[in-house]
Amino acid sequence: MSDHYQTLGVSRDASAEQIKKAYRKLARTLHPDVASSPDAGERFKEVSAAYDVLGDPAKRAAYDRGADGLSGAGFGQGFTFTDIMDAFFGGQGSSDRHPRSRMRRGQDALIRLQIDLMAATFGAEREIAVETAVRCETCHGDGAQPGTGTRRCDVCGGSGEVQHVQRSFLGQVMTTRPCSACRGYGTLIEHPCVQCSGEGRVRSRRTLTIRVPAGVDTGTRIQLAGEGEVGVGGGPAGDLYVEIVVAQHPTFIRRGDDLHARIAVPMTAAALGTTLTLESLDGPQTLEIDGGTQSGDTITLRGLGVTHLRGAGRGDLVVDIEVETPRGLDDEQRRLLAQLAALRGEERPEGRLEQHGSGLFTKLRDVLSGK
Ligand SMILES: [Zn+2]
Ligand SMILES: [Zn+2]
Repeated sequence: MSDHYQTLGVSRDASAEQIKKAYRKLARTLHPDVASSPDAGERFKEVSAAYDVLGDPAKRAAYDRGADGLSGAGFGQGFTFTDIMDAFFGGQGSSDRHPRSRMRRGQDALIRLQIDLMAATFGAEREIAVETAVRCETCHGDGAQPGTGTRRCDVCGGSGEVQHVQRSFLGQVMTTRPCSACRGYGTLIEHPCVQCSGEGRVRSRRTLTIRVPAGVDTGTRIQLAGEGEVGVGGGPAGDLYVEIVVAQHPTFIRRGDDLHARIAVPMTAAALGTTLTLESLDGPQTLEIDGGTQSGDTITLRGLGVTHLRGAGRGDLVVDIEVETPRGLDDEQRRLLAQLAALRGEERPEGRLEQHGSGLFTKLRDVLSGK
């Protein structure tokens, strides 16, 4: 992209007044309505884009620091047509009286991408196919057949507006409406580009490679700036949002960045203690089941959950133990278990109510009685 100072023909230390003067001079000679050379339209856009940056102290300072707010030639976001009108009519242009620009910022686009838990945990690269509007290469976005350009609208004289005078009991009332002949643009495209029918953009399918960061979850949106729909009239593109959908895993349930797994242990193994192997996302892990393990006990494997999307570290892998009571005992097994019960004095166990709730109940009673 060309240097804005060169485009306007001023030095880097030019004053704001010098820049404005240089722009007015160039704009007068290059405006599509008065210029005759075929590349004047393109040059006019360049000059306007340069002035959009250098004419604004904040944007100029950013540009001098090397951050060019505009990613392409042409009118960027934030450019107002008032600046051009100012250049022509010496500052008499006002913001609500000017032709509309044909350029529009393109819309944002949204696509969904399904990944598995492994990719969500460790991050991944994926290729995605997107179909969006891209700039028409035949007319470079301006919508006119190459070499034809635009013509000033005769109906409104290029202002994009027409005035109606009505008589009412209050006297004459003047109203201003957008010109219907040029739809408010002030100019007409006499020969619309055949490639894009004058829209300045065409639909195209392309493949993008995106990096999915570790830690994403269903609903996370990745923003790809400027990869959305290109606007009409060669306007800047919107953004592309990739919304992540994490597929359900057969073993693990995700809660925040923790993963939960349920593991069934036979009653005898839970009573005697055992060693099990669990296939985690990081490979096989050895689980020590202590003798006397109960249903509902958990074993926490620190740092084997999902990566935190923001910040360092990972969640945990929490294993919920479920003790399986044996079913379908044969005579021999029944006899052995009965023997065990007799040894433990549990032939006729008395059902025992657990005391978990009593503390809360006492507190509640105290509150109710005003203690
Ligand atoms: Zn075109
Ligand atoms: Zn018109």
